[in-house]
Amino acid sequence: MLATLDDIEKVAISALKEVQDESALEAWRVAHLGRSAPLMDVFDHLGGLPKDERPAIGRRANEVKRRLEAALLEKAEDLRQAALTRSLQAERLDVSLPGRPMARGRLHPSTQTQRQIAHIFAEMGFQVYLSRDVETDEYNFQLLNFPPHHPAREMQDSFYLDAPHEMDNPFLLRTHTSPGQIRAMREFAATNPDNPPPVRIILPGMCYRYEQITARSESQFTQVEGLAVGKDITFSDLKGTLSDFARRIFGENVRTRFRASHFPFTEPSAEMDVECFVCGGTGCAVCKRTGWLEILGCGMVHPVVLRNGGYDPQKYSGYAFGMGPERITILRYRIDDIRNFWANDLRFLRQF
Ligand SMILES: [Zn+2]
Repeated sequence: MLATLDDIEKVAISALKEVQDESALEAWRVAHLGRSAPLMDVFDHLGGLPKDERPAIGRRANEVKRRLEAALLEKAEDLRQAALTRSLQAERLDVSLPGRPMARGRLHPSTQTQRQIAHIFAEMGFQVYLSRDVETDEYNFQLLNFPPHHPAREMQDSFYLDAPHEMDNPFLLRTHTSPGQIRAMREFAATNPDNPPPVRIILPGMCYRYEQITARSESQFTQVEGLAVGKDITFSDLKGTLSDFARRIFGENVRTRFRASHFPFTEPSAEMDVECFVCGGTGCAVCKRTGWLEILGCGMVHPVVLRNGGYDPQKYSGYAFGMGPERITILRYRIDDIRNFWANDLRFLRQF
């Protein structure tokens, strides 16, 4: 019987050497350690053996069983390692290869300038106030001191909407961000009509004019308008704020000048120029040999506009200004054609 157990072990171990994969291993387990394996047969017949032989045969049978089980585990581990090595070789992963680049977008050059402007004014305490793109004639013109049929409207050819409206008050796409001044003042004044709070806002947004599209004019463009209303606000506040703004956006040493101008909603009105940063003021093609670049329009808020916004011009004063982020971007980067801004040409947009 002991010799039989030696044979069982020998046969099983040599059969295990031939096993090459998981399914063959499972077949081996059934054949040599399963219920009907020769080794189990030995256990089944232990009881029929002479009493004095039983302990030795039993010990030996258990030993064979443990060895076969250990051999099985070892073989299983070998097979797992072999499979891993095979898959590592077959599906090689080169970790030194660069990954697929993520397509990254960027802000439109006009948005970049707009945000820079907003950032500078935010540091001076101005809030951003967003107003609607579709306006009524009343807000876009009349409340800003452009009465119906006033010749100043000639400067702002407009896109009117074909929608039912009251006489003299059609809907249109806003021609400037200024109607937001009235909306903001009325909203602020409504919080305390007898003693309205001060206003310090900028109004960025898209404007629309019925213009012939050329290298210098577009039918849509952005504006950033500013408005400060309060008690004892004077023209020197306007000059100080805007000169400081010019230094922050164009450079520490840039010089500015104010020229008298006219806008229906400010009185007095001015245009602010900055010294040409291309030629340093000596005169070049960008500044048309003048040494100055026109940057923005501004002025003290007209009493009629203050009253329309709910602020008593006897007690309150204020200033307003407006500038075009595209114009500023054009000057800074010397862009020769305004049509590039809305043409969606990536060759242009990727330069910013
Ligand atoms: Zn110049």
